[in-house]
Amino acid sequence: MISDSSDLYGSWYQKIPKVELHIHLEGAIPIDALWEIVRKYKNEHSVSSIEELGQKFVFRDFSQFIETWTWKNKFLREYDDFAYISEYVARDLLSQNIKYVEMFYSPSEFTVHGLEIQKLTESIRLGLSRVPEIEIALIADLVRDFGPEREMITLERIYEVKDSGVIGIGIGGSEREFPPQVFEQVFKRAREFGFKTNAHAGEAAGRESIWGAIDTLKVDRIGHGTRAFEDNRLLEYLAVHSFPLEMCPVSNIRTGVVHSIIDHPITDYYKRGMKVTVNTDDPTMFNTSLAYEFQRLVEKCGFSKADICRLILNGIEASWLAEDQKQNYIDDFVNNKFWNEL
Ligand SMILES: [Zn+2]
Repeated sequence: MISDSSDLYGSWYQKIPKVELHIHLEGAIPIDALWEIVRKYKNEHSVSSIEELGQKFVFRDFSQFIETWTWKNKFLREYDDFAYISEYVARDLLSQNIKYVEMFYSPSEFTVHGLEIQKLTESIRLGLSRVPEIEIALIADLVRDFGPEREMITLERIYEVKDSGVIGIGIGGSEREFPPQVFEQVFKRAREFGFKTNAHAGEAAGRESIWGAIDTLKVDRIGHGTRAFEDNRLLEYLAVHSFPLEMCPVSNIRTGVVHSIIDHPITDYYKRGMKVTVNTDDPTMFNTSLAYEFQRLVEKCGFSKADICRLILNGIEASWLAEDQKQNYIDDFVNNKFWNEL
C-alpha cells in the first residue's frame, strides 16, 4: 500500500506550518467519518467495510476517478451531513499544521437530494466554525458537465450566501468534454459579484484548456496546469506573469495524468521560476497529505527543505487573502520554530 500522512506524523513535513489552495471538501473527508456517512445510508450502493471503502479509491484512469467521486457524493444527503464532514475535515487539516485553506465544495452536485445551495453552504460554514483554530475560506466549484445555464443559477444562489466566507468560484468536472469557453458569461458574472476565480485546466485536457481558462474565463489561478509543458509560449507566459498554478502531484499520479512523481513537471516548473503551489486535491481519495506531497518532492525530485518553505510561501502569496493578512501569515511561518530546522 502507498505510504500516507499517518506515516509522517511527527516528521518535519507534518510539523511545519502549511497552507492549501486546492482541496475539495468532498474528497477530503477522513475515511472514518466517510465510513459513518456510508453506513448511515446503507443501500445497494454501499460497501460492507471501511477496508472495502478504502479499496474504492484506487483508480484506473481519470474517468474512473470521476465515477467514484459521483458514487461517494450519493451518500451526502442532509444539511447535517455537511456540517459533520466539514468539522471533521477542519480538525484533520488542523492536526497536520495546516493554518490556512481555500477549500472547494461542489454545491450543484447535491441539489439532486433536494438540498438548497444556500442552506448547504451555511451548513458547511457551521461545521467549519466548530474548529476556529484554522481559517478556511470557501470556493464554490461549478461543474462543467451541468452546462452554463444551470451553473449561472448556481452562481446566483452562492452570491446570496457570499458572507458565509465564500471568496471564489471555480470549475471542475469533465475537462476534455466541456471546454472553458462556454462558461465565459458565468465567470464574467462571478467577477461582477466580487468573486475570485480559478479553473481546473491542463489536467485531463491539454494546453488549449489552460489558454481558454486564462484568455476567456480570465481566471486568477489555474487548478493543476500540469500539461502546460505542451506549449513553450504558455510556459513563458506563466513564468513572466507569475501566474499561480495549484499543482497536485500525487493526484495526477493516482488518476494516471502523470506516470510517476519523477516524471511530474512540477520540478521543471519550479526551476523555471513559475509560481507553483503544492496541494492535495482529494487527499482521502488519493491517499495523500501535504506532508506526503512535500516528502515525495524532497526524496524523489531533488527539492531541498528550503525549496519546500519557498513553495509554502508561494501558497500564501498566491492565496486570495488581503495583503496585510498574507504578511501576517508569512511573519508567523518564518518565525515558527520548525521553519528553519532544515
Ligand atoms: Zn481539484
